[in-house]
Amino acid sequence: MRRSLSVALLLGSAAALGFATGAFAQGVVKVDAWIVGDGTSWARTDDEVHGLFEGANRVFSQVGVHLDLASVNHVTNQTWMVFNPEDQNWEIPYRIESFANGTGGLVCFFVHDLIGYFGIHHAETIIVDSSASFKTVAHETGHVFGLCDLFTWNRNAPTNLPPDVRPCRAFLPGDWGSDTEESYYPAALTQSNLVERLLMFGAGDSDDSGTDLPFGDIHALWFEWTVDPQTGSKTQSWHLSLAPASFLQHATNPFAAP
Ligand SMILES: [Zn+2]
Repeated sequence: MRRSLSVALLLGSAAALGFATGAFAQGVVKVDAWIVGDGTSWARTDDEVHGLFEGANRVFSQVGVHLDLASVNHVTNQTWMVFNPEDQNWEIPYRIESFANGTGGLVCFFVHDLIGYFGIHHAETIIVDSSASFKTVAHETGHVFGLCDLFTWNRNAPTNLPPDVRPCRAFLPGDWGSDTEESYYPAALTQSNLVERLLMFGAGDSDDSGTDLPFGDIHALWFEWTVDPQTGSKTQSWHLSLAPASFLQHATNPFAAP
């Protein structure tokens, strides 16, 4: 039901209702999955892969998107089973990505252990390890759709979100519950709690991050890369502001027909 409602809002009456419309063409995104093995064992079973995408689809049903698992394939490669993605300038993730890209859809690799990560993404490929839940699959897919990570604190950021600050209309303008009743939100709930409940919360482990996709943008800590046009060098700039968190406004579908 919810999926149909979201689609109707986007295709039909979104503008009339005064909602912002996003660039994402709603609908079905094809997925090809690859289970990696080392000759002795496989990182996942086929049933686990189907279960992970069922979970990810419950998340994306909030915004009328369905991930259609078109194939579950197997590849044996010992090097890909356990590795630190950052080693040698992300060499292994680039190799994995080039193995099966260009399908016109999302490609998802299941490996045993990504040291230091639950999941990573590059272009239209995501790689998740055996400790990752459906939330990690959905989170990394969110990145493929162009969404950024949202944080409450980070050691590299100049400012963090104060831990006790309360939600207010300015912090979640599209999702604010009521003009008059601040009591809509439990007294103990903070803006940090709200950010931690989001799918794109970037600092949780696979089980304690959330699954919410907010309707509007959300006040949080986030960063973007800026490239120096002279030197090509990239700088991470952090912000504590209304982050581009709204799927409807900011997500894009890299697989949509032009
Ligand atoms: Zn992330």
